Amino acid sequence: MSKRVMNPATRTAAVALAAAGLGASMVAGAGSAFAAEGQAVTPIAVTASAAVATQAETQAKVAAQVKAAATKAAAAKAAAAKTAAVKAAAAKKAVTAKKAASWVKPVSSYTLTASYNQGGAMWAHKHSGQDFAVPVGTPVKAAGAGTVVKAGPNGGGDGPAYGNAIVVKHANGTYSQYAHLSKIKVHVGQKVGAGQQIALSGNTGNSSGPHLHFEIRTTPNYGSAVNPAAFLRAHGVGI
Ligand SMILES: [Zn+2]
Repeated sequence: MSKRVMNPATRTAAVALAAAGLGASMVAGAGSAFAAEGQAVTPIAVTASAAVATQAETQAKVAAQVKAAATKAAAAKAAAAKTAAVKAAAAKKAVTAKKAASWVKPVSSYTLTASYNQGGAMWAHKHSGQDFAVPVGTPVKAAGAGTVVKAGPNGGGDGPAYGNAIVVKHANGTYSQYAHLSKIKVHVGQKVGAGQQIALSGNTGNSSGPHLHFEIRTTPNYGSAVNPAAFLRAHGVGI
C-alpha cells in the first residue's frame, strides 16, 4: 500500500479538517495536491445543502404546526359551535318543559262542546268560555299556578248562571275561572299549583248538562274573558 493512498476514513477526516479551517499543511499525508483538488469546499456545500434541507424541514415543520394550529382552531371553533348549539337546544327544551309544566288542561278526559264566542240561547251574550263535557264528579285541576280569589256558589260572586265557581289569579294579569262545579275543594287566598285538584265538576247554575265551563280572564270579574282555547294552545297545551 502506497503512503499516498488514503483510505476512505482518512479522506473523510482530511475533508473535515480542511472544512474546519486547519489548512492542507496540517493534513498528514494529503499534501497540497489534495487541497488543490477543491475538495475542501465539499463540506461547505454539504453544510449548505444540509442548511437548505434543515431550513426546508423547519419550514415544513412550521407549515405543519400552522396547519395543525389551524386544524385545532377549526376543531375548537366547531366544538364551540356544537356546544353553543347543544346549549341553545337545551335552553329551548327547558323553556318548552317549563311552558308545559306552567299550564295544563283543567280536566284530563273530556269532549269539547260549546266554544268561546259561540252564540246561542244559553247565554245573554256570546259564550264567555270553553265547555268541557265531563261526568259529574270529574276532578277539576288548576290550569296554572296561582292564588284562589273567588270560590263559592253564585259563581263566587259573578252571578247565579255559573253555579259553584272558582277564580284563580295567575302571574301577569291572567285569571282562570271554573264553573258549574259540584264540589269546591279550595278557599279564597289559597295558593294552588298547576294541575292541582281544586274541585269536582258538576251541573250547577245555568247548565244544559254536566260539564266544566272554563274561562281565561284579564281581571277576576265576568266580562273580561279572552279565548281560553287559544290561550292554552299559546302556552303549549293542546286541547
Ligand atoms: Zn260554558
